[in-house]
Amino acid sequence: MIVVMEPGATQAQLEAVVQKIRDAGLNTHLSVGTERTLIGVVGDSHTKELLRDTLEATPGVEKVVRILQPFKLVSREFRPSGTVVRVGGAAFGDTAVAVVAGPCSVESREQILQTAEAVKAAGATLLRGGAFKPRTSPYSFQGLEEEGLKLLVEARQRTGLPVVTEAMDAHQLRMVAEYADMIQIGARNMQNYPLLREAGRSGKPVLLKRGAAATIEELLLAAEYVMNEGNYEVVLCERGIRGFGNYTRYTLDLSAVPVLKHLTHLPVIVDPSHATGKWRYVEALALAAVAGGADGLLVEVHPDPERALSDGPQSLNLENFNRMMARLRAVAQAVGRGL
Ligand code: PEP
Ligand code: MN
Repeated sequence: MIVVMEPGATQAQLEAVVQKIRDAGLNTHLSVGTERTLIGVVGDSHTKELLRDTLEATPGVEKVVRILQPFKLVSREFRPSGTVVRVGGAAFGDTAVAVVAGPCSVESREQILQTAEAVKAAGATLLRGGAFKPRTSPYSFQGLEEEGLKLLVEARQRTGLPVVTEAMDAHQLRMVAEYADMIQIGARNMQNYPLLREAGRSGKPVLLKRGAAATIEELLLAAEYVMNEGNYEVVLCERGIRGFGNYTRYTLDLSAVPVLKHLTHLPVIVDPSHATGKWRYVEALALAAVAGGADGLLVEVHPDPERALSDGPQSLNLENFNRMMARLRAVAQAVGRGL
């Protein structure tokens, strides 16, 4: 349920409404817009229903709207104008397209610094690099862990790019939050509810990737877990779902972009690298995603993909990344967005 305050409602009226809701044992989430403030009310449905008429009659309240979808705080009604998530100097959901680029894994000082400088020069807005890697096999490279986080910080100091990196459990998440500007929750952990809650309490923006077999509703409910802890800085990422072909690693669900933009106010980005698993197809889907309304991209870039310790086959080399960015600029401009 959402309480829509009148445009001219006073702070005292707002506080009185919030108090009434809390007194009934329900939780409130404020969304302060340029015109009006919305109050998201979450908790027991029966209690909400009992409170509805009282709230509608309270001074300063314009109307009370029921949200029929199972996801509430993430729904577009909660913030009709859309959310802009700011991470350092970068922004997701603004006019400009955000480009998150970097290697799958942080492998060495030289590798991450060289990549950071190259992607920055090509126009990327955030640096990515895994320090804790969710690998399918326990025998594969698992990441440099804290050492990798320190190298990301050094790369940020060199380039000014904010950094995003994955955490797979609550302990890692607390460590990642000390170093990184944004926390990535990977596809395999999209429904790890204690981890989502911890991310919601971290105070850091969250990049939430769609699970390979997750529905759009499950993705939105996962984001709801983060938001329900009071963290509204969530960016959703479509990264391909399980298909039945084997020419690509997953099947990029581009339809998720307009569907999500319709259902939620949260920014939506696309990861064509994990979706295809092959660098050759990354550029085409990156361009398609931006043409189709994505707020940004997540692209894996490595200075020497053939020697990469993870996801080499899907990583663009520096030259290919430059070329993709040049073409992306033209597409972004054609759909009224910058880069
Ligand atoms: C990654 O971004 O390196 C990654 C492991 O992605 P996903 O969780 O989408 O598989
Ligand atoms: Mn990867």
